[in-house]
Amino acid sequence: MSSLHPETRAVHLPRPDLNGSTPISPPIYQTSGFSFDDPEVFADGMSRPDGAFTYGRHSNPTVRAMEDAVAGLEGGAGAVATGSGMGAISSVLLGLLKPGDHVIAQRALYGGTAQLLADLAARFAVEITYVPEDDPAAVLAAVRPASRLLYLETIANPMTQVADLPGMCGAAREAGLVTVVDNTFASPVLCRPIEHGADVVVHSATKYLSGHSDVLAGVAVFASAELHRRVWSYAVEVGATADPFAAWLVLRGIQTLPLRMARHCANTRALATRLAGHPAVTAVHWPGLPSHPSYDLAAKLLPDFGGVFSFDLTVGREAGEAFMRAVRLARLAPSLGGVETLVMHPATTSHRSLGPAELAAAGIGQGTVRVAVGIEHPDDLWADFAQALGGGAA
Ligand code: PLP
Repeated sequence: MSSLHPETRAVHLPRPDLNGSTPISPPIYQTSGFSFDDPEVFADGMSRPDGAFTYGRHSNPTVRAMEDAVAGLEGGAGAVATGSGMGAISSVLLGLLKPGDHVIAQRALYGGTAQLLADLAARFAVEITYVPEDDPAAVLAAVRPASRLLYLETIANPMTQVADLPGMCGAAREAGLVTVVDNTFASPVLCRPIEHGADVVVHSATKYLSGHSDVLAGVAVFASAELHRRVWSYAVEVGATADPFAAWLVLRGIQTLPLRMARHCANTRALATRLAGHPAVTAVHWPGLPSHPSYDLAAKLLPDFGGVFSFDLTVGREAGEAFMRAVRLARLAPSLGGVETLVMHPATTSHRSLGPAELAAAGIGQGTVRVAVGIEHPDDLWADFAQALGGGAA
């Protein structure tokens, strides 16, 4: 299987053999537990992430099928599926850190992750140093004896800075740190961080992996069996693991992931390019545009640039709000990665935990609008945006 292209791997997921025939769609094992003939097999299953199925919080065949599918696409040794993306991120951080440890994290982060790190610092005495996402020397300069972990996002939310994964992971390896990369925005179709030296990859599977805005789920993929086992034990302990129906929805979504990503990226290019030429727009933030600070790095690292971009309006917050009220096809809503186009205002929603100085440091303005581009026809999307900006379709 490992020699197959992602498009083929995504479709041909493992299926159970049922007395000589195989279901085309993977079954949902809707059970909280499993019974045994052999107590030793039972005990062994409770103690490791890849043993016999025992109790739903430890393991379930549908959940493991999803874990194996994502681990396969990311090139990892194993995965832990969770009830949400934050469930995956918090399981990894809490499962690997202890009080007094030091974390180096990139400055531009999803707001929920920034909040979690602030909480770890305030309540669990974990120290955090923030560095730019593309500065390996800053990682090495920040390292101290208590440093344990480097945290990155392949494409950051919402200003779409691209992390220098080879450089940053290389610096972390030199310093003996575990590197964790949130690959939600890129998906394994655009980037496989383990190939660039990451130790753990996390996803909000709520987004592109599932792809239809109908499930909350997360997953953490591990380069080594040892990290897999440690985080699995912690996720089981705190009850963060996914349920079989959520895992099944993610598995169903994964089958069309490569197709959807191609359309998300193409639509984003069409919208971002046209908006960049609109008189009401001061800046468009998408790493596929030469004006983006990450453009050169992104062009080297990624085959395409993702389905999320942000843009700034000349008149600031009022203009942003007026735009979000005026769109008819695009919806004003949180989240991203579904088939429909969504718009939102990061400063008052996803990044509301950041103060004015932190927002400014992240480049998020009061007039910044984030767009999660869907798979509709690009001309319909542009017509909607143009009417919402008040200029008509150009
Ligand atoms: N990581 C990124 C990059 C996100 O955008 C999000 C949610 O928007 C999360 C993690 C958290 O995922 P979830 O909402 O599934 O907990």
